[in-house]
Amino acid sequence: MVTIDFDMIPARDTVPADRREAILADPGFGVHFTDHMVTMRWSEGSGWHDARLEPYGSFTFDPATSVLHYGQELFEGLKAYRQDNGAVVLFRPEVNAARFNASARRMAMPEMPEEVFVKALELLAAQDQDWVPTTPGTSLYLRPFMIATQRGLGFSHPSTSYLFCVIASPAAAYFGGGARPRALTVWLSENYSRAAPGGTGFAKVGGNYGGALAASREATERGCDQVVWLDAAERTWVEEMGGMNLFFVHAPEGAPPRIMTPRLTGTLLPGVTRDSLIRLAPTLGIEAGEGRISTAQWREQSAAGELTETFACGTAAVMAPVGRVRGVSGGWTIGDGEPGPVTMRLREELLGIQYGLLPDPFTWIHKVC
Ligand SMILES: *Cc1c(COP(=O)(O)O)cnc(C)c1O
Repeated sequence: MVTIDFDMIPARDTVPADRREAILADPGFGVHFTDHMVTMRWSEGSGWHDARLEPYGSFTFDPATSVLHYGQELFEGLKAYRQDNGAVVLFRPEVNAARFNASARRMAMPEMPEEVFVKALELLAAQDQDWVPTTPGTSLYLRPFMIATQRGLGFSHPSTSYLFCVIASPAAAYFGGGARPRALTVWLSENYSRAAPGGTGFAKVGGNYGGALAASREATERGCDQVVWLDAAERTWVEEMGGMNLFFVHAPEGAPPRIMTPRLTGTLLPGVTRDSLIRLAPTLGIEAGEGRISTAQWREQSAAGELTETFACGTAAVMAPVGRVRGVSGGWTIGDGEPGPVTMRLREELLGIQYGLLPDPFTWIHKVC
């Protein structure tokens, strides 16, 4: 067990309480930030040090700081929930800690002991607990990240120093959320690739996002909400949505429901929500498995009524039904284009656990305060 002492640099609320309440009434996503942040430094020889909980504020960097040029950066995303009894909890933070370290290894960045990572999250969520909203579906989004801070443009070795930081942002339910989320229209990206074998697709790194923006713009121009990425080698197999994993539901009349998500091939992100749904589904009588599906199969099985629903899942949006698919060679509707019963059943169960309305059979809930 590694312990690191965090200095509590004079905590002070920088946002007046009435302003905070106004923000919490309509938080949006990722636009407002809380009063504090956690920072920690790493350098060759000293390892992790200088851990602080401090007022939220700007950084000053030399223009030659390596992250600005070579993108050695990674991040995580998870939420603090206000449960029904008032408690503030995290959902499986140790899985985010493990994924943070998997991303760090791929990016030749230092790993962080899982208990130190979780401690940083707990400290910030507890300090800024008044920022955890209470309306159903809302939460406090936590964004840990790490950047390379060495000064210089040489590129012969990884940075010798890094900055870790956690910031927090109150969040409304993404895509409208509410009791009945809106079904998305998605765009098949047939010209751009997000990740290739041997690349960084399985790591949660900013570079994957920067490279995806041109495809996002293409999707928006076609009236679509999100991009669906295909495998880079054959451009045949559906991978994920570049911020959310995908599930395909087979629940034709009379047959037991089954959900399938693309196998982790190294080019898609191993989502915590994805993993949680694979575990949760069988407890609800829904068979769950990993596999693969081509765009042609997706279209044909939808038309035949075998594939009855598709949904995306991730921490930010929880679960977002997919109603329509479009691509350069046309499109199709899934089911009746509206959120389906299997999607809604799983969503209700997952949200119920996160908000403390249902039992937590897997002990996924991590109480903060
Ligand atoms: C974060 C992320 C997801 C979803 O992961 P969760 O842990 O469920 O939030 C899916 N795809 C990509 C590319 C991501 O960055």
